[in-house]
Amino acid sequence: MEPILRGILEFQQRVYPEHRELFQELHSGQSPKTMLITCSDSRIDPALIMGTKPGDIFIVRNAGNIVAPADQPCGSEPASVEYALKVLGIEDLIVCGHTQCGAMTALLNPESLDGLECVHAWVANAEASVKRARQRATGTSPQELLDACIESNVILQLEHLQTYPFVAERLQDGRLRLHGMVYHFEKGRMDYYEAATNRFVPLAETNAQHGVTAAATGAEVTG
Ligand SMILES: [Zn+2]
Repeated sequence: MEPILRGILEFQQRVYPEHRELFQELHSGQSPKTMLITCSDSRIDPALIMGTKPGDIFIVRNAGNIVAPADQPCGSEPASVEYALKVLGIEDLIVCGHTQCGAMTALLNPESLDGLECVHAWVANAEASVKRARQRATGTSPQELLDACIESNVILQLEHLQTYPFVAERLQDGRLRLHGMVYHFEKGRMDYYEAATNRFVPLAETNAQHGVTAAATGAEVTG
């Protein structure tokens, strides 16, 4: 805890004064145009890897970057997405998974969830990605299966998002674009989901601003 407390004091004494104007401006409200749904994993630092400032992105984090589909009880994820779309007018929504994700590792090794009832119930919302991963994996090693599961889960959660009418209708009329990404923290690399090829490719090689296809509705989403 001590490094965190020192960090807060450092922020107050050095960082805040440098950005005083920005923080005071944000007092009147927020108007982010991008929403990020990513994992709680401590190795992901959105501001660091995306170059964002306070006020730039609206963020939801949980174990496994999961959004339960609309036929499940309303949880905090859809509530945040609904607010982001209807009130804030978010235009781009990113689901970002990451390498070595503990939630995906647990899905592939269900015995590791013994005694973790809440985790077990939560990651069940990503269960379908296990079967898909077996088809997607380039090999049969545990690492290849995990890598495929991480990608399959991002695609699955993009589909879950589209089960909510407030997402689906905005995709259809072009007010919203969906994006899938996988962050390779050990390489500092971000892969972007290209729906046309069903592959994740390094971001620099893609036309990411156009968004991915609306997989569940079959509708092509372009920018
Ligand atoms: Zn994770």
